[in-house]
Amino acid sequence: MAIISVHNIHKTFEKTCALCGVTFGINAGEIVALLGPSGCGKSTLLDIIAGLQAPDQGEVRWQGKSLGNTPAHQRNFGLMFQNYALFPHKNVFSNIAFGLQMAKATPDKIQTRVNELLALTGLDGYARRNIATLSGGEQQRVALARSLAPTPRLLMLDEPLGSLDRTLREQLLGELKHILRKTRQTTLYVTHDQEEAFALANRVVIMQKGQVAQIGEPETIYRQPDSPFVARFLGFDNLYAARARGGVIQTEFGKFPAPGQIEGKVTLLIRSDRFEIGISGPHQLRGRVTGRSFRGSVCRLELTIHETTLHADFPSQQGNIPLIGENIILSYAPGESLQVFDDEHNAIDNHHQTRP
Ligand code: ATP
Repeated sequence: MAIISVHNIHKTFEKTCALCGVTFGINAGEIVALLGPSGCGKSTLLDIIAGLQAPDQGEVRWQGKSLGNTPAHQRNFGLMFQNYALFPHKNVFSNIAFGLQMAKATPDKIQTRVNELLALTGLDGYARRNIATLSGGEQQRVALARSLAPTPRLLMLDEPLGSLDRTLREQLLGELKHILRKTRQTTLYVTHDQEEAFALANRVVIMQKGQVAQIGEPETIYRQPDSPFVARFLGFDNLYAARARGGVIQTEFGKFPAPGQIEGKVTLLIRSDRFEIGISGPHQLRGRVTGRSFRGSVCRLELTIHETTLHADFPSQQGNIPLIGENIILSYAPGESLQVFDDEHNAIDNHHQTRP
């Protein structure tokens, strides 16, 4: 059973439904990422879990018991924000010790715990340093150490790496993952960055306009997005309005094999990362290369097929990537490349989701 859970949480601001019935749980020691675009309700939900705001409807429960009457300071939840909110006039030691002092821990206990956290976060030797003299990455580590010091039963991090440059973010993300896993810290990690969520979390909750769009392990979500919204949010942009009839999906630029039982209006997702150049099977697309962009590990081709644009990604080191202006044939395996969503935007459970 989940150790912490939210049940049917609703919150409306004037006419904006910030949260419209959100339910999910986090297991002990699990890292769950709350992922979604700006304005989907992530911070509001975090505030409600922390007890900083009350929901209009619904409940936050700890081990099945409502926290409705437990004020924020008695929840023993740790919070870490993007701007860290460190005390600028205190040194590193005093910042980390703050929560322990508030909890009236003995000086010996405080000393031992702060030393533990300095070591855990790679800040040995920083205890007497002034906060103002630290780099952004060091401040982030102090903020993490401070939020972990009172051993919170739930740690919530709100875009904690948002203001750092990419290299530092990746480094700190790795460290954070190591620390959270090592301490088996139950964690809710809020971000709008899919890569960050996928790299860190055991499970991801994707939110869309105040509702849960999909919950699952990162690989499962990536392999099988539940809706066009999730697919688009994950960066899949080959999504096309189509019609299914008699085992065939008809689009404006060609026909595709339909999965099992589906008739009527559908949305077809063609994955950009599963194509082979040339003829390697019975299913092919023919088009003209109208764009080609190098993106580090992949090279993205823009293909125009009967005025429709389709993207295809290939490993950059692959030798035969076509050039702009070439007419090419791409082969695909329906089971790996295609996914179909019905008119209600539900994924059709089909023969396509077989890739391990
Ligand atoms: P971001 O990633 O940009 O921080 P978010 O996913 O955290 O966004 P929220 O900050 O929870 O989203 O906001 C959800 C919706 O509720 C938004 O439309 C926002 O404008 C609205 N909202 C949040 N707080 C208030 C408030 N105090 N008064 C009015 N509207 C609010």
